[in-house]
Amino acid sequence: MGWSIGYDDTWKRDVGYGVPAYCDHPGCSEEIDRGLAFVCGGDVYGASRGCGLFFCARHMYVPMRRPQLCERCEKRRKPFNAKSDHPDWINWKLTDDSWQQWRDENQELVVALRRVLADAKTKITGDAAGC
Ligand SMILES: [Zn+2]
Ligand SMILES: [Zn+2]
Repeated sequence: MGWSIGYDDTWKRDVGYGVPAYCDHPGCSEEIDRGLAFVCGGDVYGASRGCGLFFCARHMYVPMRRPQLCERCEKRRKPFNAKSDHPDWINWKLTDDSWQQWRDENQELVVALRRVLADAKTKITGDAAGC
């Protein structure tokens, strides 16, 4: 089954291996994608045991014969907070032709995403100036 791009209703995020993302571990900025290789729980939306967030190899436990889990789910704790989307992904959604119909149908979301992207850019520029 292809899972290049889908939508996760629980976390309100686009998922799938076609979606670039940061590792959902706080403080980790490893770039991964939201494909099955990185999902906590090892299957779509986290299956039965995972939270469905996405983690890099350093932040994923891979026990023998059990699905891969993040440290919170491994300890059966409340999941981490989901991170916002990768700026590259937001930019792509806002500009790529294949998302034109989505943009036409979700104009409020488009405005919200533009704001997120503008904030992200200010933050990056701001950080650089701070150095
Ligand atoms: Zn988890
Ligand atoms: Zn990580």
